[in-house]
Amino acid sequence: MKYVIIGAGVSGFAAIEAIRSVDKVGEIIMISDDPHGYYSRPGLAYYLTGELHDKALYPRTAGDYKKLNFKFLKGRVTRIMRSEHALEMDGKSRLVYEKLLIAVGARAMPLEIPGAKLDGVVKLDHLTDAKNILKLAKRGKTAVVVGGGITALELTEGLHARGMNVHYLLRGDRYWSNVLDKHESLVVEGRLRAEGVTLHHHAELVEISGRNGNGRVNGVRFLDGRTMKCDLVAYAIGIHPCLELVRNTDLALDRGILVDEHLQTNDPDIFAAGDVAQAYDPLSGRSVLDSLWNPARDQGHVAGLNMAGRKTAYLKPPPFNVTRLAGLTTTIIGAVGRGHDEDVIGIARGDSETWRGLPDAIVAQSGFDINHMRLMIGEKTLIGAVLMGDQTLSRPLEKMISGRADISPIREKLMTPEAPIANLIADFWIVWSEQAAL
Ligand SMILES: Cc1cc2nc3c(=O)[nH]c(=O)nc-3n(C[C@H](O)[C@H](O)[C@H](O)COP(=O)(O)OP(=O)(O)OC[C@H]3O[C@@H](n4cnc5c(N)ncnc54)[C@H](O)[C@@H]3O)c2cc1C
Repeated sequence: MKYVIIGAGVSGFAAIEAIRSVDKVGEIIMISDDPHGYYSRPGLAYYLTGELHDKALYPRTAGDYKKLNFKFLKGRVTRIMRSEHALEMDGKSRLVYEKLLIAVGARAMPLEIPGAKLDGVVKLDHLTDAKNILKLAKRGKTAVVVGGGITALELTEGLHARGMNVHYLLRGDRYWSNVLDKHESLVVEGRLRAEGVTLHHHAELVEISGRNGNGRVNGVRFLDGRTMKCDLVAYAIGIHPCLELVRNTDLALDRGILVDEHLQTNDPDIFAAGDVAQAYDPLSGRSVLDSLWNPARDQGHVAGLNMAGRKTAYLKPPPFNVTRLAGLTTTIIGAVGRGHDEDVIGIARGDSETWRGLPDAIVAQSGFDINHMRLMIGEKTLIGAVLMGDQTLSRPLEKMISGRADISPIREKLMTPEAPIANLIADFWIVWSEQAAL
């Protein structure tokens, strides 16, 4: 069997590992156009702040690759010729496949305002972007960040850590309003201010201006006419799955490449996984986009097994993300928000559409300081949770939400005013996990 994988991200590598666990002799070829190969994209945030060296971003060693026995081709796939089971690389060479995995990820939505192409306007998709940001941060003093979700915050904190004066612009009235509640947004914003970041609400950028001659950013103009001098503009206004390669292939598309629970497209020899895939969720009956490391890895694994002939279903668990928001460890599980965030178009990095699929739920929360827990309570089960600061209950809550624990014995108590919800959950967990033998 000849397997070809387009993309050297976590989903592509998980697929290689899965194929090799079933098929020890088949030929595997991986193709990527990223000059830095496979590295941790969430780790880019820590590389920007200086907490991680770029060498620490690589999860695999040369020895690990050797054991997997695959061929790596550096280059860009420019066309998929389904009827010939072939790919075109860099507009010239041709490569045939028997089973193909499309794992090309997603990329930043472009900023579409005058001046967006000037030198000094940056996004954070790749290690190359991060290296460019660090270079630019050395030569300037003031940065403007626009957008929402995790990446806008990572850009803000990274630039601040590199000594820049950072102005963070929000179109809406609070940070990440379709996932966090008001209290949680205010905690994040308060911490950013305390660090020295300047926040601007209801601020919309309409133009970036450049210095005459060298095409470098030197300022921005807001919708209300105000202007500000700056040396760098960073944006994170949402991402979109990389669909250019598949637009003319008649593969079924929606917001991403549509795949069934086997990660198979409408072509039985073509699979898709990770940020580019819109995967079927048997629990909700909907197909959703995630931009999360763990689902990308799990989808790649399941796609690889299916490509190698071991029929396996991807049972999408409630999305789970442990991240850091303004220095505060925050875990988001299941469905926690709804509506639209004015700072993000569609989905952001480290985000899941499932987080906003909130059915009717009652909110219980405790801790109105930095150690905060919010639970979304359904009829019999917990539907979602946000934990800020103290993370003691994050794994138990993940297990209870994904295992659809019947919380009827504590449901009423959780909903009483001033309920000690952390204690109730901790006590319930001891009993439930024993019964569930976790
Ligand atoms: C800054 C940042 C912060 C993040 N934070 C979090 C977080 O806190 N938590 C979390 O869970 N997730 C986070 N994520 C998201 C997570 O990293 C992604 O969901 C995950 O990496 C997706 O993996 P993937 O394999 O689908 O795609 P990717 O890792 O994007 O890999 C795609 C690969 O395809 C290659 N490629 C694309 N087009 C072509 C082509 N035509 N030809 C050849 N090669 C091609 C690319 O070069 C790349 O190698 C973050 C991502 C970023 C960038």
